[in-house]
Amino acid sequence: MAAALSAQVCIVGGGPAGLTLALELARRGIEVVVVEQSAHFDRSFRGESISPDSVWLLRELGILDKVRADTLETRRMEIGDAGRIVLDADFSGFDQPCRYPMELPQPPLLNALAEEASALPSFRMVRRAKAVRLLTEGSRVTGVVGQLPEGPTEIRAGLTVAADGRFSKVREMSGLPYTKIPLERDFVWFKAPMPQEWDLHTYRVRILGSRHGLFIPTVPDMVRIGFNIPKGGLRELRKEGIGALHRRIDELAPEAGPGVREHVTDWSDTSMLDIFTTVVPDWSRQGLVLIGDAAHTLTPVLGQGVNHAIIDAVTLAPLVAGAFGGSGTDARLDSATKEFQRLREAAVARARALQLRQERAFALTSPVAAAVRRTAYRTVSASPLLRRRILSGVYYQLQQAVRDGGIRLDLAPRPGSPTRAGGQHS
Ligand SMILES: Cc1cc2nc3c(=O)[nH]c(=O)nc-3n(C[C@H](O)[C@H](O)[C@H](O)COP(=O)(O)OP(=O)(O)OC[C@H]3O[C@@H](n4cnc5c(N)ncnc54)[C@H](O)[C@@H]3O)c2cc1C
Repeated sequence: MAAALSAQVCIVGGGPAGLTLALELARRGIEVVVVEQSAHFDRSFRGESISPDSVWLLRELGILDKVRADTLETRRMEIGDAGRIVLDADFSGFDQPCRYPMELPQPPLLNALAEEASALPSFRMVRRAKAVRLLTEGSRVTGVVGQLPEGPTEIRAGLTVAADGRFSKVREMSGLPYTKIPLERDFVWFKAPMPQEWDLHTYRVRILGSRHGLFIPTVPDMVRIGFNIPKGGLRELRKEGIGALHRRIDELAPEAGPGVREHVTDWSDTSMLDIFTTVVPDWSRQGLVLIGDAAHTLTPVLGQGVNHAIIDAVTLAPLVAGAFGGSGTDARLDSATKEFQRLREAAVARARALQLRQERAFALTSPVAAAVRRTAYRTVSASPLLRRRILSGVYYQLQQAVRDGGIRLDLAPRPGSPTRAGGQHS
C-alpha cells in the first residue's frame, strides 16, 4: 500500500482537459493532484489539430509561446469531391485575435502544461497511477483509489474530476448514465512525406463516393492522413495486405501515393480511431464532475475534441476555486459543477450536431446524393457570408463571444504577471 494523499481537487487524467484544469486551479492556489496512468506523454495522432479558439486560449494561458516551435498554422481548407475542388476556405479574412487552426502534437502541449503547473507549489502529478475505484461517503464521492506500481493508494479530495478521456473509467464507476453513439465509420491514421505539389498550410479533404480522406500537414513537414473504413472493417482491410491502403490513397490523392508507399509498409505504421460520440445527460454527481472527452466524446471532424476539453477546463476552474473556503464548501462545489454544465453544454451540442451533419454528408453513397453534397459545398464556397457563418460557428465562437461581451473569460493570473490573462477581452 502506497502512502495516502489528499488535495482539494483530484483530477483523474493528464490529457489536455486535466492538465489545463490543474494549471488553472494551481495558479489560484488550489491544491490539486493529477492522477495519470501513463509514465509519459508520448502519444501519436491524438488531438493534433487545434481549433483557433483553443490556440487563442493557449496564448492567453501563456502556453503557446512554449510550444510554438512544434506548431504549424493551417491557413486554408480545401475540399475536393470526385476529383474537383468544391470548397475553398481561406482563414486569413477572419478578424479574430487567433484566426488560424494549428497543428500541434499532444506531447509538446502536455509537456508544456505539466512543466508550467509543476512550478506551482499546490500542483502535484502522480504518474503510473490508474484510478481503479471511487471513494465515497454516503452518496458523495470523496476521491479515488489509484493503483501505483508500489500498490494501491487512496487519494482523498473535496472534488474529484474525471478527465480520463473517451473510455472514461471514472464515468463508468460513477454510475452516471450515458449513451454511446457509434458512427458508421472508423478511421485509419498514419503519417507520410508531404507531396511536393502541396504546401504546408492547407488542410485537404478528399471525397470519392462514400470514401473520404483527410490530409493534414503536420510538424515539421509531413502529412497526417486519415481515411474512413466501415465500422469494425479494419480486420477485413488488413486481410488484403498493406496494398489495400496504398490503393485507397491512390484513389483519393494520387499525388500522395509514392510517399505513402515508401513510408507506410506495414499496418503497424497506422493507428485506428473507433469513431463514436458520447452523450452524458448529467456531467456531475455530488463530489464528482466529468470534463473533456469523458463528458462529451466528439468525432475528429474540424478538431473539436481538444478545443472543448480546454474550454471546459478554463470554464470550470474559476467556479471550483470560488467554491472553496469556509463552511458549505460541498454544497458550493456541487452548484459549481452544475453551473459548469449549464455554461458548456449548448456549445458542445452545437459542435456535435455540426459534426454529425458532416459525417452524414461524408457517408452519402448514391450518385444523386453525392451530387447534392457537391452542390452544397460549392454554394458555401461561393458565398463569403455562408462560409463566414459556418466557420465562425465552429472555429471562432469563443473569441467572438468574449469580444461581444457574451462570455467573460476568467483566467487565473500568471505568476509574475500583474494582469489577469485574457482580461483585455473581458
Ligand atoms: C486517433 C485520434 C485522433 C484525434 N485527432 C484529433 C484532432 O486532430 N483534433 C482534436 O481536437 N481532437 C482529436 N482527437 C480527440 C482528442 O484526442 C480528444 O478530444 C482530447 O485528447 C480530449 O482530451 P481529454 O483530456 O478529455 O482526454 P484524453 O486526451 O484522452 O486524456 C485522458 C488522460 O487520462 C488518462 N487516463 C485514462 N484512464 C485513466 C485512469 N483510470 N487513471 C488515470 N489516468 C487515466 C489517459 O492516460 C490520458 O492521459 C483525436 C483522438 C484520437 C483517438
